[in-house]
Amino acid sequence: MAVQQNKVTRSRRNNRRAHDALVAGNPNECTNCGELKRPHHVCPSCGHYNDREVVALVEEIELDDDAA
Ligand SMILES: [Zn+2]
Repeated sequence: MAVQQNKVTRSRRNNRRAHDALVAGNPNECTNCGELKRPHHVCPSCGHYNDREVVALVEEIELDDDAA
């Protein structure tokens, strides 16, 4: 195992971590509903991609208590 020779100071450590922050993506507007969506992904709010519906969204799922 490699062992470091010198202590990494708080300053040096924090300077290294200064570039570690996550950046938000670049969202596009859905052409169907206008909601923000990730580019090259199906719109999560209306299920459209390339101006056509590719994922049918289920409004409400009825859960039957006896089916358990
Ligand atoms: Zn949409």
